[in-house]
Amino acid sequence: MNFLRELWDAVIYFLFPPRCPVCREFADERYQLCAACQQKILRLDLYDQKVPPIDKVLRVTKYRGGSREMLRALKFDDNLRVVPAMKKILDDVSDRTEILSLLAAVDCATIVPLHADRLKERGFNQTELIFGEWLAKKNLPPKNFLIRAIATPKLYNLGKAERQKVLSGVFAPLEPVDLRGQKILIVDDIFTTGTTCRECATVLKSLGAEKIFVLAFAADFGENLGDNRR
Ligand SMILES: [Zn+2]
Repeated sequence: MNFLRELWDAVIYFLFPPRCPVCREFADERYQLCAACQQKILRLDLYDQKVPPIDKVLRVTKYRGGSREMLRALKFDDNLRVVPAMKKILDDVSDRTEILSLLAAVDCATIVPLHADRLKERGFNQTELIFGEWLAKKNLPPKNFLIRAIATPKLYNLGKAERQKVLSGVFAPLEPVDLRGQKILIVDDIFTTGTTCRECATVLKSLGAEKIFVLAFAADFGENLGDNRR
């Protein structure tokens, strides 16, 4: 049986060799990036910054190159094949001091919610796909504190001021909850203008949260503000 299994795997490998989900070049492993794309992304960048009312923002990658390609594939094309490569990138930074001290400093974690209609349309919350399992492994299974009460238009073509206007008052508490003294980690897929996370932080702080930290899979802190700002 084992022999047949191995033979079958070899046939599949031959007929459908693994390809990089970003550039479609051949890759060593199925669902993982090719060496060239790895190189471009794995200059892991844990740059942090304070963006009031958020106390600290940490990013896993810069929002450019392969990292940006993967997020676009996931969000705009619903291409789930990029998820394993993203999770691997997250695993690769897991033991970095910056990440360990961030995780040690928080009481719980939460994921930026999608509006119910968007969630239904897309079928998944992309941030949950990237971070959900990882947070659970870190003993911080994501909790839901917020809902996105108002559906917003897609944000990527909007500038900072427009985003602020559109997103103001969009998030509301899921239910009355006392977060006094809590240090909360918000995870999000993309952080550029920071408007979305700042809106979440404002609501969480109004519920009593003491500190809000953000961990973004990809962020642009102004060095490269192109399109797709959020
Ligand atoms: Zn590639």
